[in-house]
Amino acid sequence: MSTTLTSRCALAAFALAFAAPVSPAGAHTGTGGASFGARPTVKSFECVGGGRSQCPEGELLRVRGEGLERADSVIFLGRNGGSDDRRARPAKRSPHRVVVRVPSSARTGPVRVVSRAAGASRASKPKRLRVIEAPAPAAQPAPVVPAGEGVFPVRARHDFGTRTNRFGGGRGHQGQDVFAPCGTPLVAALSGVVTWAKFQARAGNYAVIAADDGTSQAYMHMLKPATVERGARVAAGQQIGQVGETGRATGCHLHFELWTAPGWYTGGKPVDPLPALQAWAARG
Ligand SMILES: [Zn+2]
Repeated sequence: MSTTLTSRCALAAFALAFAAPVSPAGAHTGTGGASFGARPTVKSFECVGGGRSQCPEGELLRVRGEGLERADSVIFLGRNGGSDDRRARPAKRSPHRVVVRVPSSARTGPVRVVSRAAGASRASKPKRLRVIEAPAPAAQPAPVVPAGEGVFPVRARHDFGTRTNRFGGGRGHQGQDVFAPCGTPLVAALSGVVTWAKFQARAGNYAVIAADDGTSQAYMHMLKPATVERGARVAAGQQIGQVGETGRATGCHLHFELWTAPGWYTGGKPVDPLPALQAWAARG
């Protein structure tokens, strides 16, 4: 049940290991080794979180082309002849696409795919990838929920991902991601009334609960439709669904939002839920 956690940790380790500068020889003059099979080619790329030809640091980038099934790394070419190139290991790969996490401090520029077996692709020029510096997490507002109340919503070992999974990370991320295996029971963090229980293309199966003080909690990417119906009253700790990856999600996780009164898309605004989540987690 911990494979999801383990593989995410491995991915993070790769990102760190390959954030180091790549040697000019490796980056710009091919592999120098034995070459067989067709060289990989790069045709286009897109940010998994949305956006063509631009992607924030730390986000997943999908590179499309040919011969990518043996890609060992994707190189983000810098401007100083290799000293500022950044290399990333594939998180996923297939003949026509490879997915990597954009390394921190990658420069805007062309992208190239390298395969030890088949050599390096040509640089993706003129298709330059614009790398957007990841914003610092938003300043922490006063907690909307007293730490003494509430239940941690994911009932298994979990992790909070990277800074892009935080509130304000990535592209306008309005909540906190909580990674845990798909199928993990999901419970209401606070008691209230279910105001939404639906499916939406980005959110997947989601539910919104309005607490008695007018704040809202939103739970997204659930494995199956919520097990509670709109209008139902739920108690803190009551199961409302399971962790999943429906909608626009990479990896099994809960996307959790906390909104000030008068609530979710009804005049409230989202706040960083991490302090409340950490307080709930500390209480078990
Ligand atoms: Zn999220």
